[in-house]
Amino acid sequence: MKSPYFDEGHAAFREEVRAFLRTEVLPYAARWEETDTVPAHAWKLFGERGYLGLLYPRAVGGGDRDLFTSVVFLEELGRLGYGGLRAAVSVHAYMATHYLSRTGGHDLAQEYLAPAVRGERVAALAITEPDAGADLAGIGTTAVRDGDHFVVDGTKAMVSNGMTADFLVTAVRTAAAGPRGTTGLSLLVVDTALPGVARVPRRTLGWRSAGTAAITFDAVRVPADRLVGRIGNGFYYLLRGLQLERLVAATLALGGMDRGLDELRGHLRSRNVAGEALARKQALVHRVADLATELAAARQLVHHTAWLYEQGELPAVECSMAKLHTTELACRLADTALQLQGSHGYVEDSFAARAQRDARAATIAAGPSEVMRDLIGQTVLSLPADSTAPRPGRIDG
Ligand SMILES: Cc1cc2nc3c(=O)[nH]c(=O)nc-3n(C[C@H](O)[C@H](O)[C@H](O)COP(=O)(O)OP(=O)(O)OC[C@H]3O[C@@H](n4cnc5c(N)ncnc54)[C@H](O)[C@@H]3O)c2cc1C
Repeated sequence: MKSPYFDEGHAAFREEVRAFLRTEVLPYAARWEETDTVPAHAWKLFGERGYLGLLYPRAVGGGDRDLFTSVVFLEELGRLGYGGLRAAVSVHAYMATHYLSRTGGHDLAQEYLAPAVRGERVAALAITEPDAGADLAGIGTTAVRDGDHFVVDGTKAMVSNGMTADFLVTAVRTAAAGPRGTTGLSLLVVDTALPGVARVPRRTLGWRSAGTAAITFDAVRVPADRLVGRIGNGFYYLLRGLQLERLVAATLALGGMDRGLDELRGHLRSRNVAGEALARKQALVHRVADLATELAAARQLVHHTAWLYEQGELPAVECSMAKLHTTELACRLADTALQLQGSHGYVEDSFAARAQRDARAATIAAGPSEVMRDLIGQTVLSLPADSTAPRPGRIDG
């Protein structure tokens, strides 16, 4: 039956992506996890295939494809079962560079976005600070105008791709925060090769190949033309970009859960205990049935949210719901899968163990579950929004 979201072109693209990931990526993905990095040649491979610019205009080498082409790509990337690679590629292709495409202007697009689309320059997004995580208004990294430069000082605590990134789309304070904390933030592109940029690796529980770093800026002189969009508008750009980030996180989680369920199914069918396949034990069958049902419902929520987004809406509540539900479900699925695989799942290099480590990151990054619940709850109860709550509206609004 015809899908309301996907056509034959999407199906062919899915096969193409799946084959690419199976042959060009999967054989090396475990090595990248061990070395905490996605190597430069891999970025170029993704770039040559056009996978780093699916949403971006042809003027920068992008594919100018519809959002559901990206949904296919992200589901397949998630299905590979490596959260670090998933995070690295999605931060580069959908989170950091998104601001350059939407708001960056012609020069930033040519200098940073186009090489990022080709996989020649790696991008990262630097928002979170030691004292400002979920609370954007607390960002304290400063950028002070000095002639035709900004001088940047401060620290970013958790930057995916931080160790390999060539440039950082960085949230900086260009003026004191107003009473609601929403003013005074800007986005600046900072080259990591500039004097005064220092990065320290942060060994994370999961998402290892994303090469997470803490990054400090010590009087870094950044040309003023690296400002993204208008000065002082950073908070609004971030609120808008975070919706796509959450939708992307939800889509990746769907793919990861598909793979997790496949692995679990394989184990339960092949493992015999007391002369009977685990797949015949009703207690386990019911747990799998519950997970499969929740996954099917989650898929509808994510696809519907992508459809709303594609119509030009900014479906902030749906993006939060999709992110909250899929990332928490992924944790439950990973936990159940590990339990039902017994000691086979508990050894560190097992798929189940990695899935559990990776799943935990996604309920924190791009907005913790508690913040998602706040945003959803405020809308459901029609409470006055606090300063951090995005309101529904047009993407271009
Ligand atoms: C693996 C990983 C990769 C990341 N990559 C990046 C990156 O590339 N770039 C980047 O800028 N950041 C990144 N982050 C940071 C991420 O965005 C933050 O961790 C997140 O915003 C939470 O901030 P925090 O860790 O400082 O926690 P805090 O803000 O200190 O919050 C701690 C906990 O308190 C609770 N909480 C917070 N706010 C509320 C609230 N309003 N109501 C109720 N409870 C609340 C939540 O449980 C939250 O987890 C990454 C994080 C992880 C785990």
